[in-house]
Formats: sequence, C-alpha cells, structure tokens
Amino acid sequence: MPELPEVETIARGLANAVVGKTIDSATVLLPRVVAPEPDRFARELVGDRIDAVGRRGKFVVLSLASRRQLVVHLRMTGRLIVQGAGATIPEPYSNVLIRFSDGTRLCFADVRTFGRMRLVEPEDPWAAEVGIEPLSGDFSLERFSSLLASRTTPVKVFLLDQRRIAGIGNIYACEALWDARIRPARPAGSLSKPARRRLRDSIRDVLRRAIDMRGTSVDDYVDAEGLRGGFQNVLSVYGRDGESCPRCTRTIVRTVIAQRGTWWCRTCQS
Ligand SMILES: [Zn+2]
Repeated sequence: MPELPEVETIARGLANAVVGKTIDSATVLLPRVVAPEPDRFARELVGDRIDAVGRRGKFVVLSLASRRQLVVHLRMTGRLIVQGAGATIPEPYSNVLIRFSDGTRLCFADVRTFGRMRLVEPEDPWAAEVGIEPLSGDFSLERFSSLLASRTTPVKVFLLDQRRIAGIGNIYACEALWDARIRPARPAGSLSKPARRRLRDSIRDVLRRAIDMRGTSVDDYVDAEGLRGGFQNVLSVYGRDGESCPRCTRTIVRTVIAQRGTWWCRTCQS
C-alpha cells in the first residue's frame, strides 16, 4: 500500500502533469469507487480546473478552481496515471477517466478496487480525523511525546494509527523503529525522552530519504509517470527476515504484531 513517500511522489508527478488543466469530461466505469453518485460526480467536474495537487496523510488531494477538492485514497493497488493526447486505450483496470481540454487524460486505475475518489465541497471537514503530518513543523518532540503519553499499545501499532500520525504504514514503521533502535512491541507510552527523540528524528529521516528516492516499490507501486521507486533497494529490515542486520550483523527476524508482519533486529532494538 502506498505510504507517505509514495503518495508524495505521486502527488508531485501529478502536479507537473495536470495543474492548470480544465476538465472536459469524466467517466465513471465502476460506480462504487466514487462519491457523490457517478452521474453527479461526472457532471460536477465538467468545466472545473485543477489548481494544485498535494497530499494529506495517504490521500492525494487535487484542489480545483471551484475550491472543491478531489480526494483520492489509493489503498492497496490504486494508481493515478496521466496519458498523453494520443492514447486511445485507457490504462488497464481504469475505474474513472478524467479527460482534459488538451486531450490528455487522468486514469484512476485499480486492480483490487479498494481505492476511492471523492469530490468534496470546500466546507467538508474530511481531513478532521487525519493525524499530524510527520514532516510538518507541528511534529515537535513535545507534540510527539503528548501523543505517546500513557499509551499501552505497541509503539509499532501506534505509528500505523492514521488518526495520530498521518502517512506511516508498515514499511516506514519498521524502518523508523530499526533506525531508532526501538523494539516494535514496546508500549508506546514507555519510551524515554531520548528514545522519543530518536524515533521522531528517525521517522522524519526515513520518510525524507524515501521521498528523495521516489518511494518504495515492493509491490506494484508506480508513480504518476508509471515509474517504480528506489527505496526498496536500501531498506534496512522490511522484508529482510533471515538476512543480516546492517548495524550489528545479527539475523533480522519477522514477527507478527496486530496481524501485521514486523521486521526487526532482536539484538540492537530494545
Ligand atoms: Zn541489529
């Protein structure tokens, strides 16, 4: 599933490809992936213009001239692909097609169809439940500490909770905890101040490095230009059970915490 660095990479690529374009028509091929209902969704988009593309948590947000937003959650296999004016066949598994007045086309493609595309009104508080952005200035040690305080849930599970911190999924939770030398099952509220500081810094560092490398392609993630990321080549622990820990050379293990595979080093994470 795309996490913060992948969604950020997709949003940046999309911004280059679609900002300033006016929507000529929209076609919904799979009704349940859009809101409001398909006829209205398609009708309301016509004539609107894309003014900006950004990200909030794991959501891609296309801001429209009408001040409404097109909010996309890619979930497992969703992709946003821009096709040139000459393309005749939509991207395979396209569920929504948005055509622009210059003949180019945005395809919302999704093999497993869990992804969603929602047109929201300016006053819609859709992001109210989305947690703090870990790369923003708001993510201070004090703020992080207050979020962690007295939480008994395993710190790894805490990191995945989108209502607390937005955008971190399984890959970057495992990588940040390894980088900060913290055992994933430790109760979130039990971290010392130095450990909290290390973890905050590691989260930001891992996410920034992954954005620099255009995300991690361990599954079928590709960016808006259809390109794979590069961070899978430098992962320290994620998916590497049985291999040597890059820091202490002991064997990386995989355990399961809250039904999720968790990769870590028993020797240097405590
Ligand atoms: Zn180690």
